[in-house]
Amino acid sequence: MTGIGIALSKGRILRETGPLLARVGLRPKEDPETSRKLIFATEHPGVRLIVLRAADTPTYVQYGAADLGIAGKDVLHEHGGAGLYQPLDLGIARCRMMVAVRKGFEYEGAVRRGARLRIATKYVRTTREHFAAKGVHVDLIHLYGSMELAPVLGLADAIVDLVASGRTLTANGLVSVEEIMPVSARLIVNQAALKTKRAQLQPLIDAFAEAALR
Ligand code: ADP
Ligand code: MG
Repeated sequence: MTGIGIALSKGRILRETGPLLARVGLRPKEDPETSRKLIFATEHPGVRLIVLRAADTPTYVQYGAADLGIAGKDVLHEHGGAGLYQPLDLGIARCRMMVAVRKGFEYEGAVRRGARLRIATKYVRTTREHFAAKGVHVDLIHLYGSMELAPVLGLADAIVDLVASGRTLTANGLVSVEEIMPVSARLIVNQAALKTKRAQLQPLIDAFAEAALR
């Protein structure tokens, strides 16, 4: 395909990207939130938007199936970042990656005693690295969603998940006990494309930088 493709993450990031795309001059011709299409023409004749599951966005950009992308730091950390430049923090979809437990679970005490913790998460790599760096032994359980259920049903002692307001945790009798990292959405660029298509990509990257500052 000719032209430039920008991979966008479905869900929270897509919802918060609308105003940014408008400022950059990349309004889609149809609303990606209501359409069943996955590829959208924009007001810019050479640029199309590709709407993906959040966790797949870095992979499409890594292999050059999309030239640019917008992905959360959570999925970028989990992906590892191979083949990607990450020139910009866009400051949208802000939240925090946290460890959370059932209210009343003595997390600090368990860590101090050197207990082996069962942790459920979709962020397996990030979680493994975090606890390895602390010297805490963990057994990881890989889930794909609704992590809050795991401690409630006794599947795990703790979860690692994204927290914004904390309302979902509270509603399920959980509390956050440790921050792993602050999370926001980043612009990502295929490293090879930045060399071969720089004349088209650099103005877009500059426009995103300008729009993100406002
Ligand atoms: P999915 O559940 O399919 O991963 P989400 O919309 O929940 O889709 O998450 C997509 C991305 O949005 C995440 O990778 C993260 O960067 C961001 N995100 C997720 N939850 C929140 C939140 N509560 N507040 C802000 N950003 C979030
Ligand atoms: Mg979610």
